[in-house]
Amino acid sequence: MASECEKQGFTVQRNVAGIETAFVASYGSGQPVIGFLGEFDALSGLGQKPNETTYQPQDLDIGHGCGHNLLGTGAFAAACAVKSYLEENGISGTVKFFGCPGEEGGSGKTFMVREGAFDNIDAALTWHPSPSNSIMSLPTLANYQVFFKFKGTAAHAANSPHLGRSALDAVELMNIGVNYLREHVIQDARIHYAVTDAGGISPNVVQSAAEVLYLIRAPQVDQVDSIYQRVCKIAQGAALMTETELSIVFDKACSNYVPNRNLEKILYNNLKQMGAANPTDEEKQFAKEIWSTFTEEEKGYYVELMKGFGYIGDGSEFAGKYVSDSISPYMPSKEIFYGSTDVSDVSWVVPTAQLSAATSGLGTTLHTWQMTTQGLSSFANKGMIRAAGSMALTGLELMTSEEALSAVKEEFKTFQKENPYKCPIPKEVTPSKLNDR
Ligand SMILES: [Zn+2]
Ligand SMILES: [Zn+2]
Repeated sequence: MASECEKQGFTVQRNVAGIETAFVASYGSGQPVIGFLGEFDALSGLGQKPNETTYQPQDLDIGHGCGHNLLGTGAFAAACAVKSYLEENGISGTVKFFGCPGEEGGSGKTFMVREGAFDNIDAALTWHPSPSNSIMSLPTLANYQVFFKFKGTAAHAANSPHLGRSALDAVELMNIGVNYLREHVIQDARIHYAVTDAGGISPNVVQSAAEVLYLIRAPQVDQVDSIYQRVCKIAQGAALMTETELSIVFDKACSNYVPNRNLEKILYNNLKQMGAANPTDEEKQFAKEIWSTFTEEEKGYYVELMKGFGYIGDGSEFAGKYVSDSISPYMPSKEIFYGSTDVSDVSWVVPTAQLSAATSGLGTTLHTWQMTTQGLSSFANKGMIRAAGSMALTGLELMTSEEALSAVKEEFKTFQKENPYKCPIPKEVTPSKLNDR
């Protein structure tokens, strides 16, 4: 993508924030500066053959189950469109495309924000693929991701078990402790864990090293922090119980998303102007066949699913349909989207808005093989281009209308005055690659 930006005439800065795959592509000069945020990361376990209506995993088990292939390309297309317009019409202003790696588990943008990559940007725009055409107006959850590593003593598990100190026991006891903690945290909090090192495959060896990765989420960073402090105490308790040594390695964090309502309004008008993609008969048939792969429970959830992406309504306009061909009304929402994104940290330092464009059939949830398989479809491409168009028109409106830009900036100033940004990732924590973790 970085070389493609260069081919298009952007100046590219690579290795942004010390991340090998992060880059910023710029074109133009002076104010205002409008940024488009692109992602491109995939997910393990979601390799799937494209354009199929059955589960067909691939040898390389990595897939775009969150549609970030579309997300990055769509944001890039928006940046290219704005660049061409500025060029052709001799308009001053700067357009930037941000190549943002590691959204799924790395908080790439949060590190980029911390290192100043988004300083002096007037507004940021992005989008996310989903089954819905809508403005993503819901705040998201902040999170911390932290490793808890235990070190014990190996021993023959039958012959001298009394000499062993099990790190795996520590992990298990910690998880039990945290599972009791669940009852005593706020409703909107989420605590997940994965055992990233169980200490080996030998039951006849007392496991001397083991590790568990925690992901703690809540609506506000300080709420995440207070749960995290309690999780740390539980980990210390587990170490004490098992006479093992504990080390805590903070991996990454992100803030909650703060929508800019004035920017959302402009983005919404431009989304309406672009209009929804019109599915062909083949595209409708494909969506219908994907729909038939869902369980009754999944089918029953399809309207709620879209509400997470800002959809307003009861789904009645979708009767007899398997794919959205309309644009949802816009209403600023204070409901929480139960998920996290590193777009959030950008939204704390730059006025930000996001839209969703329908790229998949109704009922398609993120992080599934059905999402992966639809990611290269003709319908997905249409949705992506409409998202790009809506974002480009919004960028240009901000560049050519002082009134529009100042309304957006005023709203942001008011927020920032009362809510100064504090990066949730401690200074000493550096970005980790997946295979370094
Ligand atoms: Zn995503
Ligand atoms: Zn995702």
